[in-house]
Order: sequence, then structure tokens, then C-alpha cells
Amino acid sequence: MAGRNHLYVPGPTNVPVEIMSAMNVAMEDHRSPTFPNLLKPILEDLKKVFKTETGQCFYFPATGTAGWEVAITNTLSPGDKVLIYRFGQFSHLWAQSCKRLGLDVELHEEPWGTGIPLDKLEARLKEDAQHQIKAVLATHNETATGVTSDIGGVRKAMNNAGHPALLFVDGVSSIASLDFRMDEWGVDGAISGSQKGFMLPAGAAILAFSPKALEATKTAKFPRYFLDLTDQINTNKDGYTPYTPSIPMLYGLRKALDLLLAEGMENVYARHYRLAEGVRKAVAAWGLTMCAQPGFESNSVTAVVVPADKDARDVISIAYKKYNLSLGGGLGELAGKVYRIGHLGDLNEVSLLGALAGAEMAMLDAGITITPGSGVGAAVEYYRSTAK
Ligand SMILES: *Cc1c(COP(=O)(O)O)cnc(C)c1O
Repeated sequence: MAGRNHLYVPGPTNVPVEIMSAMNVAMEDHRSPTFPNLLKPILEDLKKVFKTETGQCFYFPATGTAGWEVAITNTLSPGDKVLIYRFGQFSHLWAQSCKRLGLDVELHEEPWGTGIPLDKLEARLKEDAQHQIKAVLATHNETATGVTSDIGGVRKAMNNAGHPALLFVDGVSSIASLDFRMDEWGVDGAISGSQKGFMLPAGAAILAFSPKALEATKTAKFPRYFLDLTDQINTNKDGYTPYTPSIPMLYGLRKALDLLLAEGMENVYARHYRLAEGVRKAVAAWGLTMCAQPGFESNSVTAVVVPADKDARDVISIAYKKYNLSLGGGLGELAGKVYRIGHLGDLNEVSLLGALAGAEMAMLDAGITITPGSGVGAAVEYYRSTAK
């Protein structure tokens, strides 16, 4: 098929040409005297993206899923109680990973389309007078439903309850695209991956830990080897890694940080908000709804609910086969009910309008009654009226 594939899944996201070029390097010795000149500034500059001055950043040649395990196994012990709210496939999988690792998972169900219920969280933490809950696990941006939760609010609830639990945040689809403030929100472990806001291929788990979380590594009893933070700390201090890192990934990450910091994190967030807002205008103009309930809408991904008598899988398959457009599928209990438009990373108005146009064509072909051009038109008007 002529023309490029239009990649609008919420990860992997589009890799900018600058990053692809930066990754096209010869391999080099990761024990050389000059390797620290690459790694050390990366780990320092990551702090600006996580918005932490007191925390420490880490790179693992792994993915976001491993990031969950890094946080858990380095700070907790088997049988420890963790609290998690489940409202989508990623919070579901995080809870499942904790169960398999042998934690005592206190799982609370919330409707998919909503996020962390701050009042319930505060009430539950107040009830836990013995402080049996060792960590609160918060999915910042639930990629399956297009829902963003209020992490500052989670911190406030924990403080109001005077609860000392660690706060771990899955920011895989938020960090480097949505407003994230590690220090201000008192996040103890922030977990991200390379293939979303960082605009890289999959293959890096990127994390930040607070001094409190790092202190907890000294008493954590989970067995760990590859994902051990102590080995990272001991080697990173001299600019090295405990085992072979991905050299192209590190050059790509260097370039990604340069691009993000040159744009400025506040501008990155504003761009994601504006692009997302155009998608929301389009969904409304189609006469459809989003999975995300009001107040929870994500600026990095939108899950569009198709009419009950239609199958969103048809939209996704037509978009791919007929129009070379990749849309995200409905995960878990949302299979067939929603399709997802990823709008994070390297994109602008015109590229996203292409995705909206492709979604319109695919929906029409799938028998969904919308007015051709209605969503694109609404987004066009919004982008024009808000262009600088
Ligand atoms: C993508 C994603 C993950 C999983 O990351 P992998 O890199 O696929 O392991 C975890 N949590 C959220 C919120 C995600 O969006």
C-alpha cells in the first residue's frame, strides 16, 4: 500500500525522525571511559521530566511492565498489603502482577470510565489505623479507558488520613506527555516506559524513586536480581550500568530528552491538551460518547464508544486494512465496545486530523451513522480558533 501507515495506537507512538536518526549508531563499549558522558546526563535530565529534585531516576532495558515489578520487589516484602483501584485493563494487570508476586492485594472495583475515588481512598486509609497497607498503587493514566486520575488528590487523601504508605504511580502513558509532578505530589515510585510519551521504541523502563522508597529497598525481602535497584545505584553513581544497556535506546533517549526539554514540559502538556480537546470535539460532533466520564478525560488517549449494535473491532480492522490507519482496540471488558485513538508523543494538528478522517471513513464503512466530515470539521474549527 502506498503512503505510510498512520500509527494512532496509544503506544508504541510515532518516533520522530530526529530520534530515529540519533539511534542509528554503531555499537560501543559500555565499559569505556566515555560511556558515563552519555548515561550520567540522561539520568540527571530525566529528573526534569519527572519533576523531581530529591528523587533518583533509573533506566532498565525492559518495558513498563517490568517497571511495576521494579517498584514492588525493591521496596516491599512477600505478604505485604497493597491497595489498588481497578478501573481498566492496566490497573487490572498491575493488580494481577502483585498477586502473582505474592502480595496481599486489596482490590477495589470502580466503574471503567472513572478513576481513583479520592473520598473512598481517604476513608479506607483512615480505617487502616494499624497501617497494614504498605503501598497505594495508582494508575495515573488508564490507557485502556482514556481516564486520567488526580495524583495530587491521592497524595492529599493520604496526608489527610495521616497514612505512611508508599505511593507508587503507573505513569507509563502520562509521564512526558501529561502534567506530572513527582516531588509536589509526594510520589515515591514513578514508573514509565519508552514507547509512549518518550517517543522511543519499546525496550526501556524509566523510573524515579523518592528517598523514602530508596530507604525501603534496605528492608524489602523480595528476591530480585535483574531488577535490583541496588545494583543500579552502585553502578550508576560512576555512570555505568550493572549489565549491557541498549546503546541505541540511550542515544534515542538522549535525543528525546533534548526535544522534550527544548519544547518545555509545560508546552508539551499544553500541546497534548489542545490536541486531545480537538478529538473530544470530534467525538461530540459524531454524536458518540467517550468511555471516560466527565472530569476523567485523558489528554493522551481517547476511547470512543461505538453504538451498542456495532462492533468496534470492525472499525479497527477496516481502518487498518482499507486505510492503513492503526487504531487501538478495546481491552478486557471493553473489547468490541470501544476503539482508541492515541494522541500522545510526536504529533500535531494536521497529523491528528488525518487519524480523525480515517476513523470517520472506517466508522461509515462499519455502518455507524455519522455525518462525513462532522468530527474533522469540529476539530478543524477548534484547532484554528486556538492556533497561536
Ligand atoms: C503501556 C502501559 C503499560 C505496559 O507497558 P509495557 O511497556 O507494554 O510493558 C503499563 N501501564 C500503562 C498505563 C500503560 O499504558
